[in-house]
Amino acid sequence: MNCNEAAPMVVAHADGEVDGLRGHSLKKHLKECATCAGKHQAVLDLRTKLRAEVPYHHAPQSLRDRVLATVRAAEGRSSVARRGTGERWGWLLSGALGGCAATVLAWFVGTAVLEWRNSEDLATEAVTAHVRATLGGHLTEVASSDQHTVKPWLSARLDFSPPVRDLASEGFALTGGRRDYLGGQPVAVLVYRYRDHMVDVFVRPQQSRAATPPLRSIRGFNVARTTGTAMDWVAVSDVNPDTLTAFVQRLAREDASP
Ligand SMILES: [Zn+2]
Repeated sequence: MNCNEAAPMVVAHADGEVDGLRGHSLKKHLKECATCAGKHQAVLDLRTKLRAEVPYHHAPQSLRDRVLATVRAAEGRSSVARRGTGERWGWLLSGALGGCAATVLAWFVGTAVLEWRNSEDLATEAVTAHVRATLGGHLTEVASSDQHTVKPWLSARLDFSPPVRDLASEGFALTGGRRDYLGGQPVAVLVYRYRDHMVDVFVRPQQSRAATPPLRSIRGFNVARTTGTAMDWVAVSDVNPDTLTAFVQRLAREDASP
């Protein structure tokens, strides 16, 4: 066996999936070839690192459903591809496609979990920022109900220009704005009053089109998220979930025309 033959099997071998003569030849090659042995060791190290460092979370049902749908789709493609080929080629091909599907699945699960975790963290961060600002009595750095005052104040201090609207006619009165941090980046926060409730709306230029949980409840606060054409929007308040969701979606609908 040479390096070209060994390379595609190294990962499968690390998972204990190469047996028989091929497994024997591969083991022999790994003993003799430092390059391939290095690749094999890197796979083992990565697995150890992942097990040790990636936090464990229960997958939400929506993620389970997406993973299962992907697997079914991959199985479908694999059986279509096999049809009409000779027995021997079919066997080889199904191995290759099986490996491919496993790789796609691993990548898919990995990114989905990371995205999900990031979005969890972002929601928690937003609640923490809201509580800190409320307790510290500094919800607003610029206190004004005039969007033509709040917007330029924020634009002058951030590297983007957040859309700012007073929606007092719909029950959400603009009371001002401040700068805060989400995901380690400065963001704009628009502060609204809805009846007796304060609402923080975090705004930043759109970062990802990944599906994120639109609504979460963290430590007694509701966090409603959405993405407009240009911005990511995260609203935090003890306002009821439906009202908060409708409000944040209302803001995001027009964010391309500030
Ligand atoms: Zn080699």
